[in-house]
Amino acid sequence: MFLYRVPTLVQWIYPRYVWHMDRSEPKVYLTFDDGPVDGITDFVLDLLLERNMKATFFMVGDNILKYLPLARRIVSEGHQVGNHTFNHLNGWNTSPEKYLENVAQCQRTIEDHLGVNTDLFRPPYGRMSQLQRKHLCKEYRIVMWEILSGDFITGKNVAGTLKKISKKTQNGSIILFHDQQKTAKFVKRILPGYLDFLEKMDFKSDLL
Ligand SMILES: [Zn+2]
Repeated sequence: MFLYRVPTLVQWIYPRYVWHMDRSEPKVYLTFDDGPVDGITDFVLDLLLERNMKATFFMVGDNILKYLPLARRIVSEGHQVGNHTFNHLNGWNTSPEKYLENVAQCQRTIEDHLGVNTDLFRPPYGRMSQLQRKHLCKEYRIVMWEILSGDFITGKNVAGTLKKISKKTQNGSIILFHDQQKTAKFVKRILPGYLDFLEKMDFKSDLL
C-alpha cells in the first residue's frame, strides 16, 4: 500500500530534517522536484500565476542549464529555488566527496545563472548517508515533505489520489510533486484539482 503521508516515526528518526512547517496558520507548501523541464514546469508556472500561488522548486543543476529561460522564469515570478544536486544523485550509491561536490556544483549553477542564493536542499530519493547528512545539515535546511502526491507511480487513479492527498493536507503541510517528463501527464491532471481544494479550504500557499 502506498502511504501518502510520511509516518511520524520516520519524521522522529530524522528530527533535523524539515518535514512540515508551523501548524498554527492555514498555510501549505507546494514543492516541485527535478525540473525545470519544458512541457511541465511551464504548465505549473502558468497555473500558479493564474491563481496567485507560490511554490518552491528543488531544481536539478543540469536541467537549469538545459532549460535556462524556464529556470529564470521561476525566479522572476517570485517562486523559491532549492538545490536538488547537479545530476540527481542517489546519496546511498555515491561517495561523500562526490555527493558534496555535486551539491556544490548545483549551488554554483543557481548562483551564477539565476542570480539567487538558497539555503534549501532536498536529497534526491530522500537518500543520504550519515556523513553526507552531517555535512549538509551545517550549510542547508534539509527540506523533506509530509505528503507525497504519488505522481511518480504509473497508473495512479487521479480522482482517488486527489481525495487522499486532500484529506491528509493540514496547516503547515509540505507536499511533493515532480515537474519532470515521467510525471507530467499525472501532474497536469491532478494539480488543478488540488489547487481548487486549497482555495476552497482557504489554505494559502507559502514559501519555505
Ligand atoms: Zn528528485
